[in-house]
Amino acid sequence: MIPYGVLIGLVFHYSLNTFGLSTNWIQENQEGYSIYYTPSDAADLTAYRMAFQRGIRRSQEFFGKPYIQHFDIYIHPNRASLDSTWQSDWGAPAFKSECWMVASGVAGRLDLIAPNRWDADACEHPTMDTTATQNLIAHELVHVFHGQLNPSPDFSEVSGLDWFVEGLATYASGQCDSLRMATVLEALNEDKIPGHLSAFWTGSLRYGLSGSLAMYLDAHYGREIIYQLLACTDLNALLDKLGVDEATLLHDWKAYVKSL
Ligand SMILES: [Zn+2]
Repeated sequence: MIPYGVLIGLVFHYSLNTFGLSTNWIQENQEGYSIYYTPSDAADLTAYRMAFQRGIRRSQEFFGKPYIQHFDIYIHPNRASLDSTWQSDWGAPAFKSECWMVASGVAGRLDLIAPNRWDADACEHPTMDTTATQNLIAHELVHVFHGQLNPSPDFSEVSGLDWFVEGLATYASGQCDSLRMATVLEALNEDKIPGHLSAFWTGSLRYGLSGSLAMYLDAHYGREIIYQLLACTDLNALLDKLGVDEATLLHDWKAYVKSL
């Protein structure tokens, strides 16, 4: 990225994506983070900024602690721009995102397609569903918070913990609502729960299954322990910290869901 110039706190950058197309980023510095956007999204920036501020507040209130490092938020003007970032970050030049993928969060940055473009450039995410949009932004900001406290800031070295990383972001962001909990209870009553944690973040119930596990950890072990779990990079380390084995954890989680 090549700094181009500075104007009243805004910095203009040009960057070349993998297609060789030039993106004209405008940078706005906030306390603790910077927002990058393109001129085509300038009119919506106030609404986006408010959504980021709410999400950041939500994470910090959930954990009772601040973000420990500065991070960047990129508002991509289209899917090609997001894909080009993921292609270079993940070393996968041929990667093409699915239509439901609209955002990602790691320690140093949050990338998202501008929400007002989701109707045209995504599926399953109606732009007008503002609560869902706000929760999705909060979800990614939980990943940012989590990545800052994990030895693997982009989660690439984390294994066997999809259910925890995604479940925590789902729960802490408010995505684990009563509708999702009802589907988990229904699956539980029909004996359709996966036998291992490794399968919790799969299939259509993944948000409810993983999110309710994080909810259970919060209810049973408390917020301070959850904060300590953010540093875990594998399942055994996490279970050791909780002093529980996988089968007992699943058994106790089921009892918890049924008791709600
Ligand atoms: Zn996620």
